[in-house]
Amino acid sequence: VKRIGVLTSGGDAPGMNAAIRAVTRVALNSGIEVFGIYDGYKGMVEGYIEPLTKASVGEIIDRGGTILGSARLPEFKDPDVREKAVQQLKKRGIEAIVVIGGDGSYRGALALTEMGINCIGLPGTIDNDITCTDFTIGFDTALTTIVEAVDKLRDTSSSHHRCSIVEVMGNRCGDLAIWSGIACGAEIVITSSTGFEEGEVLERLRDLDLIKKKRHAIVVISEKITDVHQFAKKVSLNTGFSGRATVLGHVQRGGSPTPTDRVLASRMGEKAVDLLMQGIGGQCVSIKDNQIIAVPIEEALNTPRESRKKLQNLFERLV
Ligand code: ADP
Repeated sequence: VKRIGVLTSGGDAPGMNAAIRAVTRVALNSGIEVFGIYDGYKGMVEGYIEPLTKASVGEIIDRGGTILGSARLPEFKDPDVREKAVQQLKKRGIEAIVVIGGDGSYRGALALTEMGINCIGLPGTIDNDITCTDFTIGFDTALTTIVEAVDKLRDTSSSHHRCSIVEVMGNRCGDLAIWSGIACGAEIVITSSTGFEEGEVLERLRDLDLIKKKRHAIVVISEKITDVHQFAKKVSLNTGFSGRATVLGHVQRGGSPTPTDRVLASRMGEKAVDLLMQGIGGQCVSIKDNQIIAVPIEEALNTPRESRKKLQNLFERLV
């Protein structure tokens, strides 16, 4: 290949810039020209495409968000819309693309590959909800943000005999919740795998108050499980704790990426370029047991979620 493009798509994540930088620098150092495609597949269809240089990806490794912007374009499922994108690429001699995003973005990458543009996916999402990789780019940073926030909530909860109910992201993947629960020494973690029995959780909180004489209780709960504000009211009514809900929301998506995310993004970016240089497309890059590997996107989208039982058991043994 002589010319490749790079884009970020779907929800943004810290470390995407480090990935863009790695793709660009590794490619340029291998004699391949690189084009930045702005606003994801939307910019591809509209032709918002500009060359990237080593300098244009300088001083971005420490920045959150994505310098290329991200967007959602549901119409990209339509082959006619994708055909427009393919024409925009052909016009510029761009033969292959690195797509940084979540599994929706991977579907787009697979569809484009089937139309003759080799695409490689990189997992860019804080949610860690791509099943074929142990970690996604952005997960470690979001986890760090959550842990900092919960540590602060613990200080104030302890002073006021409160139960802090902290809602974290994860898009139906409980990893941010269970990892932060372990890292913060939370009393209770609720994810889609643990299930949520309201009465049972209230009972456990009463036990923490009356029997274990805890001064505070931290409950970490994944998003999309229950209305945490309503639940906090029930905690106040039914237990000795005063319940307070905190929805961390989009602060989890921002901030400077951690060194772990920057290195992961750099390793994955390198792998993506190496695959494209070998003429390979339709694959995505994963990390498994600390090895950077390529997985067919088809397989990645159909891999069932690994059980998190071991982490859940560890959590239970720590409370
Ligand atoms: P994420 O990549 O974070 O999962 P989305 O699910 O919103 O985010 O997907 C990002 C974009 O990928 C969509 O806006 C759309 O442009 C493209 N996309 C998603 N699903 C498909 C599909 N089945 N075929 C083609 N493109 C898709």
